[in-house]
Amino acid sequence: MAHSGDFFDQHASASSSFRQISPTHLRSFLDISPDALLLVNQSGTIVMFNEQTAALFGYAEKELFGAPLEILLPPRIREAYLRHQQQYFAAPYARSMGAGLELCGQRKNGAEFPVDVSLRPLLLDGELHILGAIRDVTAQRVTERKYAVQAQRLSLLTDLMNLAVDAILMSDPMNRIIFWNHGAERLYGWSEQEALGRISHTLLETRYPQSRAVTGTILEQQGQWEGELTHTCHDGSKVLVESRQALIRDNQGEPLAILEVNRDITERHTREQMERAYCEETVGRETLFHQILDSLPCVVFLVAGADARMLFANRAAYQVWGVPWMFQQPLGEFFNTNGITLLNAQGRPLSVEHYATLRAIRTGEPVRDFQTMILPDERTLPIQVYAEPFSPPQSAGIPASEPVVLVTYEDVTVLKEAEKLKDEFVGIAAHELRTPLTVLSGYVDILLRQTSREGTSPLSERQQKVVTAIKEATLRLSTLTGDLLDVTRLQAGRLVLKCCSTNIVPLVRRVASYCQHTTEKHSIEVSTARERAIVIVDESRLEQILTNLIDNAIKYSPQGGPVLISIEEDLLHRQIQIKVQDRGIGIPQHQHGRIFGRFMRAENALAWEISGTGLGLYLCYELVELMGGHIWFDSQEGVGSTFFVSFPMSEGSEEWP
Ligand code: ADP
Repeated sequence: MAHSGDFFDQHASASSSFRQISPTHLRSFLDISPDALLLVNQSGTIVMFNEQTAALFGYAEKELFGAPLEILLPPRIREAYLRHQQQYFAAPYARSMGAGLELCGQRKNGAEFPVDVSLRPLLLDGELHILGAIRDVTAQRVTERKYAVQAQRLSLLTDLMNLAVDAILMSDPMNRIIFWNHGAERLYGWSEQEALGRISHTLLETRYPQSRAVTGTILEQQGQWEGELTHTCHDGSKVLVESRQALIRDNQGEPLAILEVNRDITERHTREQMERAYCEETVGRETLFHQILDSLPCVVFLVAGADARMLFANRAAYQVWGVPWMFQQPLGEFFNTNGITLLNAQGRPLSVEHYATLRAIRTGEPVRDFQTMILPDERTLPIQVYAEPFSPPQSAGIPASEPVVLVTYEDVTVLKEAEKLKDEFVGIAAHELRTPLTVLSGYVDILLRQTSREGTSPLSERQQKVVTAIKEATLRLSTLTGDLLDVTRLQAGRLVLKCCSTNIVPLVRRVASYCQHTTEKHSIEVSTARERAIVIVDESRLEQILTNLIDNAIKYSPQGGPVLISIEEDLLHRQIQIKVQDRGIGIPQHQHGRIFGRFMRAENALAWEISGTGLGLYLCYELVELMGGHIWFDSQEGVGSTFFVSFPMSEGSEEWP
């Protein structure tokens, strides 16, 4: 037998009285013992042993008898053993070896094995001996090692559970808490000592989604349960936890423990509740917003991107068109595929790029326009279009680079009808005014002619002035009635043009010279590099247009100054361009967009108290467009204005000298 500890050193104060035994008694005792027993004398020689000893160490009995005890020890500890043996004999007493010691023996074949040894001093024939009981504990050591590994794992597991943020607790089948990690201490406020042994649902005042019985049944039947529980903490506060529970069973399938992992979701729950409330409110607001838009009688839609893709269209839009406009479908494509056409105020079809919506997208400026819409069922609908650039909030998810425009189409049928009636009335009134005006103007002419003849009594200076004033007033009135009649004819589409190839150079000179006679404060100049500029126009209408533009240049330059008229050719675009430039009061920038409108007068013209009707430019615009030309202007308030009129160049213009 061998030892790796220092049991010989211990308990040096040994008892001095030893048991005496006769060799015969000892022999019989050794033979009936189930353990391996041997007797060693003071010189370390084996003097007696039983069969079990020989069998345990693999020796024949004769090999053991009289052999030194060391042969039963691994060589590495023999020396230490001999030293301790001497010490033991110096202080012998009965003891158990092995507690906390790793003792081992060596078989004859050299194999080592763990042993448990008990020693007892004995007096045999008056001589001190040691009786050793040796037990092979190989199986016991294996089991011990297994338990040690398990214990280590368990401690690791406990450490891990304590590291977890979640509250982890375990209860026995009677719901008594048998494990309570640091997370549970932190969450609920009870220490492990305080919690262990308590009934979990009583301690935590658990509130179940349905009932404890239901949860228990699910756990029993399915082995696990997941759900939300409300617990009360040590300080009385409530926590909402997301709980995962598992029922652990033993090998026989009997419930052993309930493992519970609880995660505090109080904050998350509150946040979720707030988010839900916010979402509901947002959805509510959105619904309200849609309801409002849907109950509007006019068409409202929102488009984004250069091609005006649909983001939203209200119910009225669907009702007017009678066909659905798909989300993200471009406006032009929607109109084309469904046969919807837009006409401008003159009744001419608009190309997509001239739609008010597309213009607002392109320029970033609001656009207001009167248009007529031809619907899929061929009905016509006069509309007032408002296309307003719109900045959606970032949260709308529209890229900031995408232009967005809010468009409304207002049905102006009633307005148009009222306008038609008004136009008819104005037309009749103007027509009726013409006859007395012609009579008046004729008699004034006769009077002037007759009184200027020789032999007739001439008018006094004062009479002359009065009659001239009457003549000018009738002239102004007849221009006004003429304009009003033109307006009503245009509105009704009854204005007829007599267009033919016209050399506009002498025409422009003629009008300029006529206008020069009406003013002394202004100098009217015509500049042109050519004597021939042939365009197809209605000559008298072009005269009317030019007269109006030059008259305006004179009228809106109250201080006098130059009025420059030029005729230029644009060979690239095959256009002839007439330019009328003044250095007058100009037109305020914010009114530029509407200056060609009916009865439109700029604020500064009113401020200067310059009389006018606001019909001239409207007629110019309509007439130029009707003749296939274009009119536009450039003006700066306080600096002056330039009006441009262009017509396509006609054959023969190239023959300019
Ligand atoms: P009006 O009879 O008022 O002159 P028009 O239709 O010819 O009517 O012109 C419309 C408005 O445009 C004018 O009232 C004036 O405010 C502005 N306007 C036209 N021509 C000029 C110009 N050359 N300079 C400054 N303002 C002008």
